[in-house]
Amino acid sequence: MTQTNNLSDKIEKQLPAELVTFIQRAGEIAASQGQGLYLVGGVVRDLLLGQTNLDLDLVVEGNAIELAHQLAEINQAKITTHPRFNTAKLQWSKWSVDLATARSETYVKPGALPKVKPNSISSDLFRRDFTINTMAIQLNPSRYGELLDPYGGKDDLKHKIIRVLHEKSFTDDATRIWRGLRYEQRLDFQLEKTTLRLLKRDIPMLDTISGDRIRYEIECILREKYPEKVFRRADELKVLPKLHPALKGNGWLAEKFEQARQLNTPNPPSVGLYLALLAYPLTSEENENLISRLRLPRSVAQTLRDTISLKSKLQSLTNPDLTPSRIYNLLHDYSSTAIIANSLASDIPAARQHIHLFLNKLRYIRPTLTGEDLKRMGVAPGPNIGMILHRIHEARLDRKITTKQAEVSLVNAWLAHNKKAG
Ligand code: ATP
Ligand code: MG
Repeated sequence: MTQTNNLSDKIEKQLPAELVTFIQRAGEIAASQGQGLYLVGGVVRDLLLGQTNLDLDLVVEGNAIELAHQLAEINQAKITTHPRFNTAKLQWSKWSVDLATARSETYVKPGALPKVKPNSISSDLFRRDFTINTMAIQLNPSRYGELLDPYGGKDDLKHKIIRVLHEKSFTDDATRIWRGLRYEQRLDFQLEKTTLRLLKRDIPMLDTISGDRIRYEIECILREKYPEKVFRRADELKVLPKLHPALKGNGWLAEKFEQARQLNTPNPPSVGLYLALLAYPLTSEENENLISRLRLPRSVAQTLRDTISLKSKLQSLTNPDLTPSRIYNLLHDYSSTAIIANSLASDIPAARQHIHLFLNKLRYIRPTLTGEDLKRMGVAPGPNIGMILHRIHEARLDRKITTKQAEVSLVNAWLAHNKKAG
């Protein structure tokens, strides 16, 4: 059922004045060229929910790149274009607007990227994931603010329901499985009965999705306010094992994610830290499988490897008599995210204490003297330089010396000793 409804008041109230002026002008320009222009997707959903969303998506029944160039010139925006997809992005310092050409999609093979061709707004809406994301607002002056809602998205919003548009939706693109869980948990909605049945039926289709696309969805989840809720639901529905069978979306994960948030306030934890906690229960072999499934970039992969490798060494950090230099030597090769993940995840108080000491103090302690200083004092260039600096560093860590003068004495003692021995 198509409902008509005017949302111009909501636009006026909820979007910043500059953006309102921008979209109105854009609507006029598109209309003057005989093209329909629409606000679509998440922002429409969030306008109806009364939630802030400044990621505007516009769809034009015409050429998005040409229109974007015209708009960028008038509004002094930075423009990026993607001719392959016929899309463009306009950016200002505070917000950005994505512009796409209205298109239809045909899925030749499950999970592969679809064939696209320019089409009307109604075909463009039909290619979307859920009814609540399948609404558009007219921006052309004659119909400004009118809601297009061909699939009952507004009703589903009201009843807090996540519903696919057709029964092949998850087969065509199984990333929608993860997306569905993300919206369900973010908005505190429910998957509609048939949608839930289709989702369960199509879980095997997740295998058709490339690592890059799955990683993108997992990153989106990790940027949610409470990612653990999505993983708990994914575990319950047996979606999580498709990422890796040994992953858990349990109370432990929820507790650790919460602790990570507290540690990082007011900023949210990094995607790397969340991933390290998610991967924490894995063996290093399982971790390698996860890294390749998600095609994780090198630096994140290294964080995960460090995390799992350090986990196996935690036992050596439990001895209450460890000297600071020993603690330093055990930890300093690991990335700080991996160390933090271990301190959050480890249940061994002594290990946590030692990690705490390292993170807050030991890692910042350095010798005052440099290699150049040592040479000036008469140490011959070569491996002895590094060795002496290392000794000074350890003596500093263990507070056997605390001043530059003491460092100098240590070097002089070494020189004297060496001279005698030589
Ligand atoms: P969010 O608040 O998570 O950003 P959004 O709705 O803006 O929500 P985007 O990922 O920015 O989500 O995508 C914009 C729109 O594109 C969505 O509202 C949806 O209509 C459509 N979309 C995105 N990904 C898919 C997909 N895999 N299949 C179908 N439609 C999709
Ligand atoms: Mg968005």
